[in-house]
Amino acid sequence: MQDVADHYGLEVLRTDMASQFWDEMERQGPPAVDARWCCKVCKLQPIKKMIEDTWGGECLSFIGQRKYESFKRMKSPRVWRSNIIPCQLSASPIQHWTALHVWLYIFRENAPPYNILYSKRIDRIGCFMCPSSDWATFRMIQEDYPPEEWQRWEDALNQYKEEHDLPDIWVEKALWRKRGDTEDDDESSYT
Ligand code: SF4
Repeated sequence: MQDVADHYGLEVLRTDMASQFWDEMERQGPPAVDARWCCKVCKLQPIKKMIEDTWGGECLSFIGQRKYESFKRMKSPRVWRSNIIPCQLSASPIQHWTALHVWLYIFRENAPPYNILYSKRIDRIGCFMCPSSDWATFRMIQEDYPPEEWQRWEDALNQYKEEHDLPDIWVEKALWRKRGDTEDDDESSYT
């Protein structure tokens, strides 16, 4: 991200609630595709606070969301206002683009370095333990990256499993990624 900011001479404002994630994990258990408390706790609430602290009013955000990314995003309008961040008006200029449009645009414009993870077999970039990831992606992350973070995650899963009397398979087969039979309620990382 810093490469891109340097290329365009832009300042990057950063915020996070990383410690809050682990507290919430103890309280609520791991995030799941049908229980994405992580987006609200780790992205939306810190962004809301940063907007309020930095500009004190409303802002217009351009977001790289596309309709082909999920059913929820397919139904999303191109301009919307989030319930969680009402001070942010969001607009998605590439809502109707396919992934091919995006890559052709990047190459045509000779855009600055894109996220290196795309060239390392990962085609959907989120948090390393995102419940929307498939099992193969988890295996790639475990093979390619330093083991400490993944170990911390597995330790937390195992602790939750013990405390709630869940079967071993809940961790081994990553069954924690979905809690029930409800439809994926993709709250959107960006809303
Ligand atoms: S990328 Fe995945 S794990 Fe990260 S906040 Fe979004 S839904 Fe949660």
